[in-house]
Amino acid sequence: MLSIKNLHASIEGTPILRGINLEVKPGEVHAIMGPNGSGKSTLASVLAGREEYEVTDGSVDFLGKDLLDLAPEDRAREGVFLAFQYPVEIPGVSSTNFLRTAVNQVREYRGLEPLDAVKFLSEMKEKMKLVEIDQKLLSRALNEGFSGGEKKRNEIFQMAMLEPKLSILDETDSGLDIDALRVVSNGVNKLKSNENATIVVTHYQRLLDYIVPDYVHVLYKGRIVKSGTKELALELEEKGYDWIKEEVDAAV
Ligand code: ADP
Ligand code: MG
Ligand code: MG
Repeated sequence: MLSIKNLHASIEGTPILRGINLEVKPGEVHAIMGPNGSGKSTLASVLAGREEYEVTDGSVDFLGKDLLDLAPEDRAREGVFLAFQYPVEIPGVSSTNFLRTAVNQVREYRGLEPLDAVKFLSEMKEKMKLVEIDQKLLSRALNEGFSGGEKKRNEIFQMAMLEPKLSILDETDSGLDIDALRVVSNGVNKLKSNENATIVVTHYQRLLDYIVPDYVHVLYKGRIVKSGTKELALELEEKGYDWIKEEVDAAV
């Protein structure tokens, strides 16, 4: 599904990603972990196509297409979901209207009929139940100041509605309380199928108490320096990142 080869990326001339290799197959959940500043969010941003980042080497193949060649909105239409591509705060627009537009754009791209208001509503109800989101949240205009947990809930709901093939969730290091962690993990677990894949980026080992990843990768200084199964996350929880830093730094 996703094949990242020797990916290098810089920001303002500073190299951040220094040769990332990663293969993701349908049905898999991958966790990308690592100390602060190792390049986790940069990787997510490069995959999303954020303009500030310059890819200087390497390739990213997504279902046979060169992902790096696609505009961000086309990446989304091809089935890549990045939570932060879909803003949760748009003054004066309710998330429902926003989402219907987004869903129908994706459907159109996939050659499917747009959902009319009735069908969209029934689809919404089904997915709301699945990710346990409150209806009140969705009818609220999106500039009303969502809490961290509400933003997460909304994000996971958007993901459920858009039915992406590959979801990349960057659980940034701040402001994720235990409820938000639970929302994200329940969503990921429930939406998991043999046809989709998820990459969860996190600094926190504790997210992986809830999400069971098939693979865990440790990013450090812009490279994946260790990969393993969920046992690796448990080891990190116990020992932290210092032993990995020492291993890598000693080898240089
Ligand atoms: P992580 O998500 O693993 O904590 P980031 O990808 O956010 O790491 O950051 C990786 C490195 O890139 C850090 O050293 C950070 O300071 C640097 N960096 C990130 N964004 C910018 C930016 N906009 N300008 C300059 N440096 C940046
Ligand atoms: Mg960080
Ligand atoms: Mg980050």
